[in-house]
Amino acid sequence: MTADFEQMWRDLAPVGRSAASGGYFRQPFASAERECETWFREQAAARGLAVEGDGNGNLVAWWRPEGASGPAVVTGSHLDSVLDGGAYDGPLGVVSALAAVDLLRERGDEPTVPLGVAVFVEEEGSRFGIACLGSRLMTGVTTREQAAELRDRDGVRLLDALEAAGVEGEAGPSDLLDDVSCFVELHVEQGRDLVDRDAAVGVASAMWPHGRYRYDFTGQANHAGTTRMEDRRDPMLSYAMTVLAANKQARESGQRATFGRIDVRPNGTNAVPSAVTAWLDARAESTEALESLVAEIERLGTERAGRDGTSLRVTTEAASPQVDFDPDTARRLAALGGDRPWPVIPTMAGHDAGILAAAGRRTAMLFVRNPTGVSHSPDEHAETADCLLGVEALADALTALTVPGP
Ligand SMILES: [Zn+2]
Repeated sequence: MTADFEQMWRDLAPVGRSAASGGYFRQPFASAERECETWFREQAAARGLAVEGDGNGNLVAWWRPEGASGPAVVTGSHLDSVLDGGAYDGPLGVVSALAAVDLLRERGDEPTVPLGVAVFVEEEGSRFGIACLGSRLMTGVTTREQAAELRDRDGVRLLDALEAAGVEGEAGPSDLLDDVSCFVELHVEQGRDLVDRDAAVGVASAMWPHGRYRYDFTGQANHAGTTRMEDRRDPMLSYAMTVLAANKQARESGQRATFGRIDVRPNGTNAVPSAVTAWLDARAESTEALESLVAEIERLGTERAGRDGTSLRVTTEAASPQVDFDPDTARRLAALGGDRPWPVIPTMAGHDAGILAAAGRRTAMLFVRNPTGVSHSPDEHAETADCLLGVEALADALTALTVPGP
């Protein structure tokens, strides 16, 4: 299993990696991500797993030992990345799932129910703007009608990208995971909780609610030299002050607020801009805390725009509620740590597991320690020894969930 894990990791390492930054560019339905998809199909075939897909591009590779019946257990994650992302976010869950299948076979632990390894598309929302798009479409959280409207930054429609990638079937709700009793996702930790607790592996308790909000600031384009400072209606200034206000609000309340993307018009060095569109990513420990954080940032932005002679319109683009993972399953998986049960910790990041849990599926997550906590960056890392412990923990979890005890 160790050799297989390391070989798979080496296979994927060069795919979509930038020579300049060392980061990954695996946008959905573009060449690097499709190469990962082909690699996954080859790995499934090499293990005799039958791959099934849906009209959204999600895949499941099934292990159905003879006589296995009843609701399936599925594990897996995603293979796409954020722009200039790390190697582990997503692929670690897929590679570990395949390695866990190998380990179960080595141990002679044959599941009595079908066991699937899933790959969800566009988990990061890096191309079409909606995180967990594959699982959202599958479960109907994002509708067929909304899917038909989605375009990437170059104006390419999701439906055309799906067709160009050769994905068969219709985008929208699918029955791919209908007959599934439990989903377990292994993921690199995106924080330092496990470092502080001196544990290689952790189990998720809950997922913070989060949302994405578009901020449209509108002002008046004008000459950068001849327009007196007091005569300007500068949306960049309103935007900048809103970023500072968001940062302060989030810091003071112990929550998270990030403006990480911005469009400026006309985007000229010697012009006061006419408009700035920016995207706020906000997360908080509870739905109430998130609502009050987002409302406060909008209030401060609107107040600032009023002072600058600009205007602000805020649109909610995506909102994910708080997710509590099944507490019984979390307790069972934590106990698999033995003398030192795996710690049970919350996550501030979104995952497909959260979408499935919100859709009523029994869901659990395992995290693998990340020494620096850095994620969504080329510096994201996990030690191989910890990854191998993660595979063992995942295999133990799958055994607990699919093989009846003595
Ligand atoms: Zn991820």
